[in-house]
Amino acid sequence: MDRIIKLQELSNRIKESNFSGIEFLKIEKPKDELDHLRNNLVDTALTIGKLLSELEEKNRELQELAYYDPLTGLPNRRFFFEHASLIFEEVKRYEKSLSLLVIDIDHFKEINETYGHDVGNLVLKTFAGLLRGIVRQSDICARFGGEKFVVLLPNTDLEGAKVLAERIRATVAKNPVEHGSTIIVFTVSIGISQYRKGMQSIDELIKEADIALYRAKEGGRNRVEVFIPDETAEAQT
Ligand code: GH3
Ligand code: MG
Repeated sequence: MDRIIKLQELSNRIKESNFSGIEFLKIEKPKDELDHLRNNLVDTALTIGKLLSELEEKNRELQELAYYDPLTGLPNRRFFFEHASLIFEEVKRYEKSLSLLVIDIDHFKEINETYGHDVGNLVLKTFAGLLRGIVRQSDICARFGGEKFVVLLPNTDLEGAKVLAERIRATVAKNPVEHGSTIIVFTVSIGISQYRKGMQSIDELIKEADIALYRAKEGGRNRVEVFIPDETAEAQT
C-alpha cells in the first residue's frame, strides 16, 4: 500500500512540475513491475525538469536577443526607443535637461578592409567596453547598427554632454586594439544635440545630433561637434 501512495505522490509532483529532490524517490534495486514503474516515473520527471530549465534558459536568451546586440552586449535600437520615449515624455512634462550623443567610428570600412571583419568586430567590442566604463548607469547607450552608437543623457545639459563626449573621444583615441603584433588605433566622431522646448519626439534629437556628427566628420573626424539650432534651416538653404 505504501508503494501505491509513493506512486501517487510521484504522479502528483509531475502534475505540479515539482521536481526538486525527486531522484531520491528512485528504488535502487527494483524488485517487480511496480518498482520499475516508479523508477520510470522518476526518470520521466527528471527529463521533464531538465527540458523545462532548458526552455527557461532559451527564453532568457531570446529576450536578450530582442533587446541586446549580440556582438557588443549593448542595448539595441528597440531597447533604446522603448526606454528613450518614456524619458522623453518626462522631460517634456517637467522641462528637465536631456542631451544625446551620436557616435560613429571613423574610417571603420578601412579597418575592416585592412585587417578583416573579425578585427572590425573586435574594435566594436572594445569601443562598447570603453563606453560602458565611462557613462553613468542612468544613461542609455545603444548600438544603433553598424558602427553607430547613441547615448541618451537624462538630466544632463549641453556643458555636461560636451565633457562626456570629449572624454569618450579621448579615451577611444588612446585605447587601441591589439591584434597579434599590430596595434590598431581607432577614433570616433561625436555629434551632440540637446532637448529644446517644443520638440515632439526623440527622433528630432537624433536627427540634430546626426547633423552635428556630419559636421564632425567634415571637420576631419576624431572630433566632437554640437548641433546649433537654425542649422537645419541653414543646411536647407
Ligand atoms: P566614416 O569615417 O565617414 O564614418 O567612414 P566609415 O568607413 O566608418 O563609414 P562607412 O559607413 O563607409 O562604413 C561602415 C562599415 O561598417 C561598412 C560595413 O561593412 C561595416 N560594418 C557594419 N556592421 C559591421 C559589423 O557588425 N562588424 C564589422 N566588422 N563591420 C561592420
Ligand atoms: Mg564610420
